[in-house]
Amino acid sequence: MGAAGSPLETHRTSLEGIIVKSMESVEAHRALEGKVVLVTGASSGIGREVALTLSAAGARVAMGARRVDRLAALVESAHGELLPLQLDVTDSTSVQRAVSETVSRFGRLDALVNNAGLMQSGLILDADVREWQRMIDTNLLGSMYAVHAALPHLLDAKGAVVQVSSTAARSASLGSGVYAATKFGISAFSESLRQEVTRRGVRVIVIQPGFVDTELTSHITDPTMQAAAADIAASMRTLRPEDIAEAIVYALSQPEHVSVNEILVRPTDQVQ
Ligand code: NDP
Repeated sequence: MGAAGSPLETHRTSLEGIIVKSMESVEAHRALEGKVVLVTGASSGIGREVALTLSAAGARVAMGARRVDRLAALVESAHGELLPLQLDVTDSTSVQRAVSETVSRFGRLDALVNNAGLMQSGLILDADVREWQRMIDTNLLGSMYAVHAALPHLLDAKGAVVQVSSTAARSASLGSGVYAATKFGISAFSESLRQEVTRRGVRVIVIQPGFVDTELTSHITDPTMQAAAADIAASMRTLRPEDIAEAIVYALSQPEHVSVNEILVRPTDQVQ
């Protein structure tokens, strides 16, 4: 054994420090051990990363989307138990089924991450209103159906609802009217939900990401809007899906008396 203050002793002490720190970090990353979470829209982008990060944090995760083949591929890369579910959030029966399958597989539901979403930007004049219908059905009604189906279980578990909203819920911009309307709608619904359930122990968390590098803009059919989205992406260091996943794990890992109701995460380079 080295004498106190000797180079050997100093080395041993710093090694112990590193081991303690890495143990603490492992514990921090298992902060959701035993929790059951349902993530909608987990086949790509933010939802995919949220499912994997929650799983690494110890949660058992049910993941829903229409492209169920992609979800099946995710099961291989996860740390823990993942349940892939065929889900179309625009169909309330499909949503109800996904919640039931989650609870029958895992026995409970502690959190719903309402992430499935679609953006089809465009001007109002000459718009194809079927795109409006799809955005409202997916982003707004779909997330409401999921809350409706999950709520009895979340009340039992004193759980949480995470609403993946957007900076578009704070201010609309040219060409984003309907998408922004769906995200403003999510804010209204979430605040009403919060007032209804917070004293019964259910926490409502609204996440507002700025520009994240995902497939979201690939669904824009208007070539001018598609080019504008590409220009915005090229003009900044965009967020990565992991940045949003970490924020969600942070919010879900708080002690029961702490309700993180809103998180706004923009790329540092994003001005508006
Ligand atoms: P992606 O396009 O990569 O992911 C969207 C996800 O939603 C996919 O998994 C898709 O799965 C799913 N989805 C779409 N329609 C349905 C449906 N009817 N039923 C079930 N799942 C559906 O984009 P993001 O990851 O970027 O988007 C995720 C969320 O983040 C959205 O709510 C979006 O509005 C929000 N957001 C994104 C930002 C960004 O810059 N990327 C910024 C702010 C918010 P599938 O097609 O397999 O069904």
